[in-house]
Amino acid sequence: MNYPLSAETLTLTAHAPQDAYSVALKNFDIAAESLNLSPDMRSQIMYPERVLTVNVPVRMDSGKIVRFEGYRVQHNTSRGPAKGGIRFHPDVSLNEVKALAMWMTWKTAIVNVPFGGGKGGVICNPKELSQTELERLARRYTAGILPLLGPARDIPAPDVYTNPQIMAWMMDTYSMMKADGYPVPGVVTGKPLATGGSVGRNEATGRGVFHCIESACEHLHVPVKGSKTVVQGFGNAGSVVASLLDSHQSLVIAVNDSRGGVYRPDGLDIPKLMMHKERTGSVVGFPGADPIAQEEMLALECDILIPAALENAITGENAHRVRTRIVAEAANGPVTPEADGILAANGVFLIPDVLCNAGGVTVSYFEWCQNEQHFYWDIHEVENRLERVMQRSFAEVLGIHTDRKVSMRLAANILGISRVAESTAVRGLFP
Ligand code: GLU
Repeated sequence: MNYPLSAETLTLTAHAPQDAYSVALKNFDIAAESLNLSPDMRSQIMYPERVLTVNVPVRMDSGKIVRFEGYRVQHNTSRGPAKGGIRFHPDVSLNEVKALAMWMTWKTAIVNVPFGGGKGGVICNPKELSQTELERLARRYTAGILPLLGPARDIPAPDVYTNPQIMAWMMDTYSMMKADGYPVPGVVTGKPLATGGSVGRNEATGRGVFHCIESACEHLHVPVKGSKTVVQGFGNAGSVVASLLDSHQSLVIAVNDSRGGVYRPDGLDIPKLMMHKERTGSVVGFPGADPIAQEEMLALECDILIPAALENAITGENAHRVRTRIVAEAANGPVTPEADGILAANGVFLIPDVLCNAGGVTVSYFEWCQNEQHFYWDIHEVENRLERVMQRSFAEVLGIHTDRKVSMRLAANILGISRVAESTAVRGLFP
């Protein structure tokens, strides 16, 4: 079979706006080259296995019906059921969901949990919807993607602008439609504890980022205590990693969210900032801190910079202004390939997304195991197991980085892609 590389691989031109899918394909190509993967194997594992677009009509509180568009992509299921979050955001696109699904495939393989990769999304702005509208949207979307779902097939989880409540509605809709109302908790993860969620799942992504940062600091001989941290994005992952670093005496000097940023050179009081965000919905206006624009914040001198929001935060345009020792990608795809090159040339140590934020899906795996075995663990068991998985995965990626003298991103992709290629090869082709 011919390897149709040029069909979907875009040439990256300097400062071109980056489509996440072209970035994902580009990084796949680099790793596949380095692994010497055959064209046959490349074409088997690079494209999504299933792509579903659904119409999501929702009756608004006003009585009017609004049509939303949703997607679910299963990128690869050779190692286990498709696994990955659901994003509700105005910027969702099919290409973005395809990229995020592909990254989930490598991510689950890097932390070596028995899942494949998937992702879903709906183009909408949940901040403009009432709770009842959001519930109807979540349920109708779930009904739309129902043919793909199941605890042994495809298991969604939270992602940008989705949360445990939305997972509970998804689980309920699936249970009502597929199991006569009897609960099927293992069909989604990131659920509330009351419906079979796991302790520690909410904090898992941020905690996993923290373990990666600890390992990177040890490797680079940068003490966490007294280090300076900047966090771009103060959502679930960003706020948890900020508070863990703060409790380990790193000075978190600047953070922002979609409405703006705050800066305090002596370190922000993170517990108080979290309460301020809880109360007002944003970090903006936090007493005792100065306002700061995102571009200025990304250029602050620090030891640890954590992009924890969306794709394309650090690009060919601004990467040369970044002044940090470590970039920890809590978000998916925040650094473009062009920026990767600039950061590497400037000696920045990058912890790539597929490793750095894999704590979330790791505890999703623990949640699914607990659901399947009907036996629940305590917080120590979850946190200890998560720490072991993150430390082992970091060490494996670092080993490839040092042995093969490749970037950390390439090392992570080599590990993930080689595991997927191996399972694909041993399973063989049907028929
Ligand atoms: N949305 C998260 C991610 O991008 C979690 C996925 C999951 O737990 O399945 O990794």
